[in-house]
Amino acid sequence: MAEMDSQPFIASSNPFQGLLTHMAPLNATFVLILNEIDALASIIQIPNSCSWTWRQILHARDWCKHHIRWRIGNGESSFLWQDNWLPSGSEIGNIISPRQLALTGLSWNAKVAEIVRGRAWQFPTGVPSLDTVWQSIDYLPNYNQDDTFFWKGTSSGMYTIQSAWEITRPHHNTCLAHDFNWHVGHIPRQAFMLWLTFNQRLQTLDRVQRFMGPSASTTCVLCGGVEESHDHLFFLCRFSSKIWKSLNTRARIHWPNLPWSRLKFWAIGRYRNKRKTKFIIPKLLLASAIYHIWYERNRRSFNNQFTPAKTVEEDIFQLIRAHLINGVKVDELPPAQRLIWEV
Ligand SMILES: [Zn+2]
Repeated sequence: MAEMDSQPFIASSNPFQGLLTHMAPLNATFVLILNEIDALASIIQIPNSCSWTWRQILHARDWCKHHIRWRIGNGESSFLWQDNWLPSGSEIGNIISPRQLALTGLSWNAKVAEIVRGRAWQFPTGVPSLDTVWQSIDYLPNYNQDDTFFWKGTSSGMYTIQSAWEITRPHHNTCLAHDFNWHVGHIPRQAFMLWLTFNQRLQTLDRVQRFMGPSASTTCVLCGGVEESHDHLFFLCRFSSKIWKSLNTRARIHWPNLPWSRLKFWAIGRYRNKRKTKFIIPKLLLASAIYHIWYERNRRSFNNQFTPAKTVEEDIFQLIRAHLINGVKVDELPPAQRLIWEV
């Protein structure tokens, strides 16, 4: 199994076939079925009523295309405009209009070989819109080699079952913030709110106005002076900034003074590691501050109830402290943090 796991793709005229060839030792019957599909890969439609297995197999064709690209040797197997052989993974035919491509004098079904001369490229000239495409190619062809497939899941281009799993599982593609949000000590409702905020999904007043028109008020209810937006609420607003700074002074955590649209990426990069227990505190602080500030904003907007910043800050501190005592392995926290949080 380990040996098979690192086999490269075998070059073929169809990426899907390459994947299937590799998978053959795994399950001969499965591959036999898939090879039948390969013959019809470009024309077969997914029937309305068919078995789950058959449907999944047909869906796999598109999945394969997105994770494999051609690496050009002599260019004889790859279509110039229609195959994804550029380093970016794009197909030229999808980014440049057919009319522009026709100006090169090369047909729609031209092979990459038509712009390969030995070990060098000979790009068509006279079509400015194609210049950036050619400039993006960072390798040379080789007339002594056939075209091969490059698996995007690993830096070596070698297909492995593990890399396929990494790409396929929801964890990988869902969102970079996943590990930051759903760490071992997270508070579910706060993690969800944080996810919304990471993705700019809160219905802040600037967003509401886009749907409702200019008649809707956009003034922040926390400070009463500025348009409400994600950037303003977290944490440029006078009210929320006071809470945020005071909490972090108390927790002895330094955050850069950035607008939310940049701070979130900084936070993910700095604290994403799920295994570091000491990162739990800054993650909880951020999620809790956002949750409580949004909660206070809603109380003011919809219930006309106002809580002072100092009280909100103390609520956040005590909630995190209670959560640490009840839910987190306190003895794994650094001594300095245990002292601050009195746990
Ligand atoms: Zn404000």
